[in-house]
Amino acid sequence: MLKREKVIAVLVSVIVASGSVNGVAQTKASKVLRLEAETGQLSGATVMKAGTGFTGTGYVGSFEAPGSSVRFHLTASSGIYEVLVRYRAASEKGFDLVVNGKKTSAKFPASGQGFAGYKAGKVSLRNGDNEIAIERGWGYYEIDALELSPAPAILPLKPLKATLSDAKATPKTRQLMQTLLQNYGKKIFSGQQNVNDVAFIRQVTGVAPAILSCDLMDYSPSRVARGTHSETTTENMISEARSGHLLSVMWHWNAPKDLLDKKYKNARGQEVDARWYRGFYTEATTFDLAKALSDPSSEDYRLILSDIDTIAVELKKLQKAEIPVLWRPLHEAEGTWFWWGAKGAEPFKQLWRLLYRRLTETHQLHNLIWVYTSGGKQDWYPGDNVVDIVGTDAYPTDVTDPLSSIWEELLHQFDGRKMLALTEFGGVPDSARMSEFGVRWAYFASWGGSLGPKKVSQEELKRLYHEKQVVNKPVR
Ligand code: CA
Repeated sequence: MLKREKVIAVLVSVIVASGSVNGVAQTKASKVLRLEAETGQLSGATVMKAGTGFTGTGYVGSFEAPGSSVRFHLTASSGIYEVLVRYRAASEKGFDLVVNGKKTSAKFPASGQGFAGYKAGKVSLRNGDNEIAIERGWGYYEIDALELSPAPAILPLKPLKATLSDAKATPKTRQLMQTLLQNYGKKIFSGQQNVNDVAFIRQVTGVAPAILSCDLMDYSPSRVARGTHSETTTENMISEARSGHLLSVMWHWNAPKDLLDKKYKNARGQEVDARWYRGFYTEATTFDLAKALSDPSSEDYRLILSDIDTIAVELKKLQKAEIPVLWRPLHEAEGTWFWWGAKGAEPFKQLWRLLYRRLTETHQLHNLIWVYTSGGKQDWYPGDNVVDIVGTDAYPTDVTDPLSSIWEELLHQFDGRKMLALTEFGGVPDSARMSEFGVRWAYFASWGGSLGPKKVSQEELKRLYHEKQVVNKPVR
């Protein structure tokens, strides 16, 4: 068993406490604490000195083995702190920050050759001994030091206009936007992908999520041609909406053509399942978006339009039923694992605008609130005039993680411009920690299967769904 060691936190600067009391967010702490990674308690990882630009006497690397971590014990004054991690990573790498047993997942962006600082969000320290650790995540990064600074008071969100990007949005669509906006910063709407999961939540908690999230995937023509039929039809969506759910609709758009439809070994010798029903993945199709968009007279371009027209038929059924939709197409483009992101930011943005024009102008669809899924990179953002809400998709290790670092990053980009939401989430965020850290997602939509017994306990699920800030489906 490893001996618990106290690490001396080096005092690098002193902030003069303001003396004013600004509610719970006001920390009593006044010191910035610095922890050199090489003084931490290591598991798996090792101390290194070969690089340049580190602080202290070295840095820590080799986080690749399962269970690798660097851990510290430090004495602090209770309060909310912001964490800055000095790190180095050749490409984006996930990691977990664990403070007194509470885990938050985040990703280091590529740092280049030198060490860089990453704002890892807010954490809560208590008076006296605290344990703080960085745990492996994806590995393949190096840690130089951690810095904990007392968090400033939580600022109110900048005012947002309720206007939608579509000037012709229907009254019900405007009304939904208004409702979300009135609650933004104060409450969080619950949401869930798949009707079966909604039934599970109802069974465990006695209430149902406000938002039902659905997928138009099986209306993709290249799937229909191979005999799929949607498990949740548009008609089902209409009946769910009439029962009181708000609707979030996404589209795993199977590539219009050029599906590989086979299993194969990639360059690293790993087997890739590229059968037709995985045809929205980059690895399952050779459909080239950049090439298609470069020639509007091409067959590929025509197929893009005809696929959009097919989906428009379904969205029109919802419009006819006077149901507004949180419309979230072309999600996770920045990840490049879907063909619509595979050719980079420019073709993606071009496709987004084409989809926007085709649906709002050609098809006169005015029941859509356009939700963009951001991975944080600003050059992928299609623009304020074609986006209404910005979301993030995340699967943190702690399934109740409020994702404070991602919130801060998106707030920095979009505060005063767009509402922010957890558009896909591998759990249910803890609204108590959201309040504590000033994280104010407009809504969350838990992914299908992410609330099973091994992921969120039934007691926890009940607690989360009955927190006072959570808005559920109205009881009728
Ligand atoms: Ca160091």
